[in-house]
Amino acid sequence: MLFCFPFVLFAPFRGYSNLSESPPVNSDHSYEELIADLKQRSLYRELHPIDAVNGTGVGRGGRSLINFASNDYLGLTQHPQLKMAAADAAQRFGAGSGASRLITGTLAIHSELETKLAAFKKTPAALAFESGYAAALGVIPALYGQGDVIILDKLAHASLIDGARISGAEIRVYPHNRLERLAELLDWARQKRRGAKILIITESIFSMDGDFCPLPEIVELKDEFEAVLLLDEAHAIGVVGPDGAGLAAECGVIDRVDIHLGTLSKAVGSSGGFIAGSSSLVELLINRARTFIYSTAPPPAAIGAAIEGLGIIASETGNQLRAALQRNHEELTVTLKRPKPEAAQSAIVPIIVGSEEQALSLSEELVERGFLVPAVRFPSVPRGSARLRVTLSAAHQLSDVVNLCEAINAVGGE
Ligand SMILES: *Cc1c(COP(=O)(O)O)cnc(C)c1O
Repeated sequence: MLFCFPFVLFAPFRGYSNLSESPPVNSDHSYEELIADLKQRSLYRELHPIDAVNGTGVGRGGRSLINFASNDYLGLTQHPQLKMAAADAAQRFGAGSGASRLITGTLAIHSELETKLAAFKKTPAALAFESGYAAALGVIPALYGQGDVIILDKLAHASLIDGARISGAEIRVYPHNRLERLAELLDWARQKRRGAKILIITESIFSMDGDFCPLPEIVELKDEFEAVLLLDEAHAIGVVGPDGAGLAAECGVIDRVDIHLGTLSKAVGSSGGFIAGSSSLVELLINRARTFIYSTAPPPAAIGAAIEGLGIIASETGNQLRAALQRNHEELTVTLKRPKPEAAQSAIVPIIVGSEEQALSLSEELVERGFLVPAVRFPSVPRGSARLRVTLSAAHQLSDVVNLCEAINAVGGE
C-alpha cells in the first residue's frame, strides 16, 4: 500500500490523539483484531525500506526517487566528514558505549559534545540524550509533577505531549499560536491553581506547517505570569538563526528561554537529542531524568558524527548550506503554480490541496514521476486541509526543485 507511507512518516506527529480512540489493548482484543481495526479506519501504517541512498536519491521498491520527505535539511547525513567522524569515534571508543552515563558510559566524546552544544546554543550547559524523544520524556517529568500545570501549543510534538502526560501535571492546550488563549490559560492557572509551577511548551518551527511560533511575545507572557518556557527547536537547529543556532538566538531571547530542547537527528545529520540551559538545570537532570539515567549512553559513532555536524553547521560551510536551502526554497515558491504553497518560512513547505483523495493521488503521481513527497491527511491535519508536505534540503540540486515544481504543476494543474 503505497500511501501508507505518509502515515509511517507522520504517525509520531499528530496521530497521538488517535491512539486514544483505538480500542483498549486488553485481553478482549487479539493483535489481529487490533490490526484489522486500524485498517478499517484507514489508520494502518507499514514500513517501506529504502535499499540504497545516494545523496537525496533513494532506491525503493526497484524505483529511484528524489527524496523530498526527510528532515535532513542540510544533507549532512550523507556528508563524508560525518561518516568519517562516526567511523573514527567507533574506532577510538567502540561500537557501543557499554553502560549508562552514570556508570561507565560517559566517554570523553560525550563531554566534548555537551561542551560544544552549550557553546552552540550559547547556554551555560547542555546534556545529551539518546534521542529528542528521550530528551522530552526525560526533562518534563524530572521537573514537573502532580499539582503543576503544563500548557502546550495544540500542534506540539508527540514527545512533548507524552512527557507532559507522564509527569502527572495538569495539562492544558491552546490553539496553535493563539497568544490570547495562552494568556487566558496562564491567567486561569495563576488564579485557580495557586502555588502551582507553570510550564509553557511550544515548538519554534512546527513540523507540519513549517511556521514559527511568536517567540518574543511568548517570552513576554511567560515572564508576566512567572511561568517557565520549554522551547523545542527540532526543526530550527541548523536552519535558522546566527550559525544555525535556532529561533531563540534569532530573536535574541536565548537567556529568557529556560529549557532549550533539540535533536541531533535532523539538520545535524546524526542521531540523538539534547537539553540546553542553566548549569543547575543540567545538574538536576543528571540526577532526575529517567531516560538519561536508565538508558545506555548514546553510541560513540552517533556522538562523533553529531560533533562534526555541529561544527559544520556553525561554520562558513553551514552558511553556504543555509544559502542553498534558501535558494531551493525561493525556487519552489516562485516556480510552483497550482497549488500555491502556503507562505512558508522554513525548510518545511506544506502545499494545501484540500481533499484527502486529491492529496493522495497527487503524491502517487509524483512517485510515478520519481519524487517522494508525502500526502498528509486527516487526522494528521484537519479535514479539508490535506496537503503535500515538501521538505527541502540544501543537498537538493536546483534542477531537482525545478523538476519537482514542474511535476506538481503538471499533475496539480487540473
Ligand atoms: C523529531 C522531533 C523530535 C524527536 O527528535 P528525535 O531525535 O527524532 O527523537 C522532538 N520534537 C520535535 C518537534 C520533532 O520534530
